[in-house]
Amino acid sequence: MGEIFVVVEHRQGEVRNITFEMLFKAGELCKSLDHKLTAILFEGKGQSFESEISMWADTVIVFEDERFRDFDADTCKEIINSLIKQHRPFITLIGHTSWGIDLAPALSVKSGYPIATDCVDIMVEGISPKVIRQMYGGKVFCRVSFKESDGYLITVRPGAFIPAEGAADRQADVIRMDIASDPGAPKKDFVEFVDTGAGELDISQAEFLVSIGRGIGEKENIEAIKELADTMGGTLSCSRPIVDMNWLPKYHQVGTSGKSVRPKVYLALGISGAFQHVAGISGAQTVIAVNKDKKAPIFRVSDYGVVDDLFIIADALKEKLKR
Ligand SMILES: Cc1cc2nc3c(=O)[nH]c(=O)nc-3n(C[C@H](O)[C@H](O)[C@H](O)COP(=O)(O)OP(=O)(O)OC[C@H]3O[C@@H](n4cnc5c(N)ncnc54)[C@H](O)[C@@H]3O)c2cc1C
Repeated sequence: MGEIFVVVEHRQGEVRNITFEMLFKAGELCKSLDHKLTAILFEGKGQSFESEISMWADTVIVFEDERFRDFDADTCKEIINSLIKQHRPFITLIGHTSWGIDLAPALSVKSGYPIATDCVDIMVEGISPKVIRQMYGGKVFCRVSFKESDGYLITVRPGAFIPAEGAADRQADVIRMDIASDPGAPKKDFVEFVDTGAGELDISQAEFLVSIGRGIGEKENIEAIKELADTMGGTLSCSRPIVDMNWLPKYHQVGTSGKSVRPKVYLALGISGAFQHVAGISGAQTVIAVNKDKKAPIFRVSDYGVVDDLFIIADALKEKLKR
């Protein structure tokens, strides 16, 4: 029987969603391949995340040490590499997150296992996995195969796999392990976690977001959309370029380096739908997108889509609301 590893990720005392998404996908693969699912958990003293993880895996291997309370990819890399040498897992899944992006390529070099990053699907055909990755800002999906190896590393895009109800049907053995040999001093120090401030408004609490992207064209055009949002009882949010260009403060930004939002309605105006953006709207109940480009990736995650100029639609909405 083979084995699939999932590396657990937590932040600020909470297991991150990407962990459950990877455990869900790994569980499906393990069922079809008759493999064992092993979660690797690094936690600070007394954090005890294993109870949350154990129903998703057959084994949870726990390393408890204060250095794992926060981000320490260097030490984790050494430990996972020694586990890989002992267990020879078929696939090791790591989140395509800021932590995973730091850990996974270095682990690939160290272990000699080939890696595919930012994957949105994983299939096993024959004796090796194949993955789906996106190219050209999400407009093209490509199927990628690996060079032949004993094992494979895959980083998984957050939001790619949504756990189904009742999928957590395992009961893991929890194995607590000591760090066998000194992994050496990490090359980087975790300094602090800086959250995106709520600022003057907290978009994560808004029920209706009117969100603008680079399609807005000019800073001067924002005011008209702000007025539209106010008329409709919505809150203005945006994609990252709007913040990078200093057109709106950071607390308006939706996405992986901004805020995750859960509105009832998310109206995306001139937003292409890069994964860093759409990862932040996975909790939205209804997504409506307006974009000139019918192939814009935002339409893949939209419940309703309008292929048109956002200013035409905004004016039409204003007219309708006047009546
Ligand atoms: C580490 C990292 C973290 C990131 N974090 C985030 C994040 O948190 N949030 C985030 O948003 N991005 C983030 N990004 C950036 C992300 O990759 C994209 O570059 C960004 O989301 C694109 O923003 P956009 O959709 O507004 O712009 P673009 O990709 O330029 O899209 C503009 C869209 O507007 C459409 N358009 C143009 N004119 C009109 C018009 N008149 N009417 C209608 N449609 C029009 C175009 O067809 C296009 O689809 C991050 C990137 C990195 C590397």
